[in-house]
Amino acid sequence: MKHLQTRALVLRSRPFGEKDRLLTLLSLEMGKISARAPGARNVKSKLSAGVEPFTCASFLLYRGKSLYTITQLQVEEPYVNIRGNIRDYALGLYLAELVEKTVEEGEACPEIFRLLASCWLLLNEQKGDRDLLARFFELNLLNLLGYCPHFEDCIFCGNTKGPFFWDKSAGGIFCKPCSTDRVSFPLSGGAIAFLRSFLSLSTGKIVNLRAPVGQKKELQAFLQHYFHYWTGTGSFKTLEFLQKINGSKGG
Ligand SMILES: [Zn+2]
Repeated sequence: MKHLQTRALVLRSRPFGEKDRLLTLLSLEMGKISARAPGARNVKSKLSAGVEPFTCASFLLYRGKSLYTITQLQVEEPYVNIRGNIRDYALGLYLAELVEKTVEEGEACPEIFRLLASCWLLLNEQKGDRDLLARFFELNLLNLLGYCPHFEDCIFCGNTKGPFFWDKSAGGIFCKPCSTDRVSFPLSGGAIAFLRSFLSLSTGKIVNLRAPVGQKKELQAFLQHYFHYWTGTGSFKTLEFLQKINGSKGG
């Protein structure tokens, strides 16, 4: 069967030849795949409406030797508000790049599909704190990839009493006596409570969370170093873009 239908999110879209676009899709049924959209660089093409990032669509695909070709698509959710705000746009692209760089081609990962779709939806509804949404996404993606940091108690001795510390290679938090001989950073009880709640709350519930700037910085440093180390991903172009925009607008 060479024709197949799938529901997918557009992670990335780039020009391909003179007339086509090449998309990286996160398919609900097939995981990450690459697909060519013939003629989609022409705005009059019937495919052009569904080939930009922040699109959830039903795609009819033809399986070629090395690539899928899109023959039809029907947009289900265009997330139009994300495109209207440069900070949300940059954050949405960052979430997509995290997925693109960590998910293996062709391996079904429906939970990651649902995580990204629900976080794009929250961005689109313009609800909640954007920094906490980013941290929620990073931690839950790590969890679904099998790299969730341990932060129930000290990873080395089981001590439940803080203060706690971390370093990116330890796999979790540890207590003061276990921190000797390590270059480590403190992680406050408040930050640890946020990490725990990120794993237990559904995406819709995080709109109510608020945190002081200092705690958000702690969470960002912890999660970004940890993510980079454990997933082996290089630098993120979209993160540089996001930081530039946030910097230019005062946080
Ligand atoms: Zn310990």
